[in-house]
Amino acid sequence: MIPRLALQQQTTPTYYSFLEALADSGFRGDIERSYASRLAVATDNSVYQCLPQAVVFPRSSQDLVVMLTLAAKDAYKDIRFSPRGGGTGTNGQSLNDNIVVDVSRHMNQLVTMDADGRRVRIQTGMVKDRLNQLVAHHKLFFSPDLSTSNRATVGGMINTDASGQGSLVYGKTSDHVLGVTAVLVDGTLIETGPVSGEALEQKLEEDSREGELYRCVYHSVTGNAGEIERRFPKLNRFLTGYDLRHVYDKASHTLDLTRILCGSEGSLAFITEAWLDLTPIPEYRTLVNVKYNSFESALRNAPLMVEAKALSVETVDSRVLNLAREDIVWHSVSDLIQDVPGKVMDGLNMVEYADQNETAQREKVEALCARLDGLIERGEAGVIGYQVCDDLASINRIYGMRKKAVGLLGNAKGRKKPVAFVEDTAVPPEHLADYIMEFRRLLDEHGLQYGMFGHVDAGVLHVRPALDMTDPEQEVMLRRISDKVNALTAKYGGLMWGEHGKGFRSEYSPTFFGEVLFTELRRIKSAFDPFNRLNPGKICTPLDSLEQLVSVDATKRGYFDRQIPVHVRDGFTQAMDCNGNGLCFDFDVRSPMCPSMKLSADRRHSPKGRAGLVREWLRQLSAQGFDPMAGEAAVQSRGTSVKNMVLRIKHTLDKRRGEYDFSHEVKEAMDGCLACKACSSQCPIKVDVPTFRARFLQLYYQRYQRPPRDYLVSWVESYTPWMAKAPGLFNPIMNHKWIQGSTSSLLGMVDMPALSQPSLKKRLGKGPAAQFDLEQLQAMSEAERAQTLLVVQDPFTSFYDAGVVHDLVRLATALGFNPVVLPFRPNGKPAHVKGFLRRFAGMAADSAQFLNRLARLNIPMVGVDPSLVLCYRDEYAKVLGPARGSFEVLLPQEWLLTVLEQVPSREQSGEPWHLFAHCTEKTAKPSTHQDWSRIFAHLGAKMEAVPVGCCGMAGTYGHEREHVEGSRTLFAMSWADPLSKLPRERCLATGFSCRSQVKRIEGEGLRHPVQALLSLLA
Ligand SMILES: Cc1cc2nc3c(=O)[nH]c(=O)nc-3n(C[C@H](O)[C@H](O)[C@H](O)COP(=O)(O)OP(=O)(O)OC[C@H]3O[C@@H](n4cnc5c(N)ncnc54)[C@H](O)[C@@H]3O)c2cc1C
Ligand code: SF4
Ligand code: SF4
Repeated sequence: MIPRLALQQQTTPTYYSFLEALADSGFRGDIERSYASRLAVATDNSVYQCLPQAVVFPRSSQDLVVMLTLAAKDAYKDIRFSPRGGGTGTNGQSLNDNIVVDVSRHMNQLVTMDADGRRVRIQTGMVKDRLNQLVAHHKLFFSPDLSTSNRATVGGMINTDASGQGSLVYGKTSDHVLGVTAVLVDGTLIETGPVSGEALEQKLEEDSREGELYRCVYHSVTGNAGEIERRFPKLNRFLTGYDLRHVYDKASHTLDLTRILCGSEGSLAFITEAWLDLTPIPEYRTLVNVKYNSFESALRNAPLMVEAKALSVETVDSRVLNLAREDIVWHSVSDLIQDVPGKVMDGLNMVEYADQNETAQREKVEALCARLDGLIERGEAGVIGYQVCDDLASINRIYGMRKKAVGLLGNAKGRKKPVAFVEDTAVPPEHLADYIMEFRRLLDEHGLQYGMFGHVDAGVLHVRPALDMTDPEQEVMLRRISDKVNALTAKYGGLMWGEHGKGFRSEYSPTFFGEVLFTELRRIKSAFDPFNRLNPGKICTPLDSLEQLVSVDATKRGYFDRQIPVHVRDGFTQAMDCNGNGLCFDFDVRSPMCPSMKLSADRRHSPKGRAGLVREWLRQLSAQGFDPMAGEAAVQSRGTSVKNMVLRIKHTLDKRRGEYDFSHEVKEAMDGCLACKACSSQCPIKVDVPTFRARFLQLYYQRYQRPPRDYLVSWVESYTPWMAKAPGLFNPIMNHKWIQGSTSSLLGMVDMPALSQPSLKKRLGKGPAAQFDLEQLQAMSEAERAQTLLVVQDPFTSFYDAGVVHDLVRLATALGFNPVVLPFRPNGKPAHVKGFLRRFAGMAADSAQFLNRLARLNIPMVGVDPSLVLCYRDEYAKVLGPARGSFEVLLPQEWLLTVLEQVPSREQSGEPWHLFAHCTEKTAKPSTHQDWSRIFAHLGAKMEAVPVGCCGMAGTYGHEREHVEGSRTLFAMSWADPLSKLPRERCLATGFSCRSQVKRIEGEGLRHPVQALLSLLA
């Protein structure tokens, strides 16, 4: 039985009393000091881990004014703060041991849209892609690009001066920030923007905090103009720190404090709102994919592309290319990047052109192609071929391939994982090839694995060498390589932080800036933050401060992870391997990724949050001498003793009395999970929360009493088949007000669906589909078997939506097949979801045995509900291993595709159908939409995919009383709008949960695609 885990690090008394005072001071935001909340922001995408004292979530600039005014009191002068946005930093920019101030939860609204002026004012917690969604209908976009655009905030972008693809044309974030609202450390609120001439003179004279800042910055830049000109590299990328180079324009006598705040990594002020300028979305886009015989050739040829006025030039090395080739994603691009006969393609440059003018666009592309033709003809520059595509879908396919391949790099097998620490160096593009060759030698000498890609037009190289951060020696190696790369970038006139900011690399700042300018940075820090209270240790310290800068040697996540025994780490790779890239924070309600995160805006309720909590849980259990693997094995092999039952009751009573146990914090985070499994396929590392959640619940409930509802759910496959025999008896009972009230109050279950009436059995009657006879099937000839279909039942569709199973039978018959419905066998998924893993293993073994026996008949087997069919593939394989056998249960569309050839095709006609596919299905099987479209097209109809996230039901989640409101909110967030705009009778859903959710909320359900196909054949 797991031990109780006492609270590890309490918030210190000073911070505690500040937070108490804050709660009473008119601060309207959230204040969280639970260990789990603090842990959720203790990491980013870097190798570092740093536990803050608390996390606060302001709702407005005024909240920050309130907080910082309070902090200005003498009693709280030791309180410090670190701003945070999406937490996607790669070098610990937002990590600190003070109060983390997360602006992303509430401060994420559009304030003013000025489409004519091509500008927008927003709160800085807004995610970049959200901003682009909001302004897209004006044909405008916020052009600085970054790969994390679906979760990084504009505030984070401003503070790291983010940029990415297309930066030569579109620039960096700082090039598009017109002005900001900033709250200074003493609570003063300032507005920034360009101030020129007379107005500037007045500001410089002003006897105020603001005047002080203007004077300090003005004297720093005017007094050191020569040194600034000499030191700041002539690169497209900026030396994040304080932008002395662009803050003052001598010619127009204009000073803009915005420029000093951009790239300041939260060390000068909180930026709460910003005016941003927007760029017209280009009308014409073309991608030229240039193929090379080596990565070096691709690099050396890049300046030619820049000369040829490309918008962006992206490159990938052979390792990244090969990862893509070995992945299913290659199918989507193989026609766009075909092999060149007789040549080996080991390098690729993706050269994009964009313009508002078609002729100008065509001329640029033709000019490049002419130059490439010449190179190929002469056998020069390693160019072996090229292909051009100019439709958006193809361009997106190519970029999708690159993105996927880069994600695959992160999913390396073994203990060594690609880590960020030298991942964004930049050198002048003309030196890039030489620089990279030397960089590669350095990594090769250390025997490191890596893949490289980058923005060659801007001289930016992305590389994450694979290290095992739980090995102290590799941690030493990280420091050694950091130092060497720092020296190497300096040698080539470049920057170690070409894109992602400094964070814990701030210790290298003095060497880059030189003593004179670094002193100026410190002077500016002193003017803004004299007592080093804002993100202390990052960028620089105030002039008179004796405090140190943060260092590459700071405590890393590996320090905590290595406290977990190796066999436990190996047993929980799901939680261990999360690298914190934050893809699971995806803001887009149309994407299936993590509904619980979207619903709660609470990082604990994301796959990353849950993985982090489980790691800490394993660490604390291990520190107490409890071996979770042995604990699991014990639960699997024997039941519970009477002694344990008594202890469990005692622990449950202690819990009710409020006794702390860290396991409760983990449990709370697990409770919000819908078990939709989007993470297990959408996360680049395939962090599979439902799997480790089930394992956690199994151990948790060894110590604590389970709620009765869990038993009700886990046994659903045993009692439902009996109830389904008499729906006429049970439905009125279950519908009775008194029963519904008791199920809600005693069991916490609401809105239970009605059993199908007539039942499946009645619908099938004595027809051939109801006549399962194994011997008869065995006696069939090959030809007869080829025309037979076995329908695998699941407890939900068969007993609550029997019409769908019946219609599958009718469809198969109409297509000329002989369907036979198999006797019902429990699948076990409900037991798995609730963490009854011992019972699940038993059910899985039993069903697998049955299905393997049938598989020998060589007759296709089809199941209707995606989540249960996919359980046979995933959870069964995990729990049974080789004992799962090789049986295959197909989804309806998978089977239909195999027989489509036998069905005469029809001319397409009529209105389109609209598919709302189940989350588990479309994430695990990305071809779902295309598969159904092909089938519909063959039968003469058009099928369009509706991009939606989770419907909010997800099995029993939406029926659980405490989740009902959230379930309905999720539906409203994602499904309600498209459903209201589409003709209801042409909307289809593959998931039983989704159909019941629509029925519960809108009073009328949707049909399954097989039912629409049946109507087409009628
Ligand atoms: C896989 C991956 C790919 C990436 N690709 C790119 C890329 O292509 N280009 C690029 O530029 N970056 C990239 N990054 C780095 C990162 O996404 C960017 O630095 C991003 O701008 C950070 O935004 P965020 O909202 O996550 O900020 P956070 O990480 O939360 O914070 C970043 C810094 O900004 C400060 N900050 C945040 N909000 C505020 C505020 N309102 N006021 C004051 N200070 C604030 C924080 O204190 C911190 O110092 C990548 C990261 C990952 C994990
Ligand atoms: S769970 Fe996956 S997507 Fe989320 S941060 Fe971890 S690795 Fe990234
Ligand atoms: S299963 Fe779904 S809800 Fe749970 S963590 Fe994964 S994506 Fe989020």
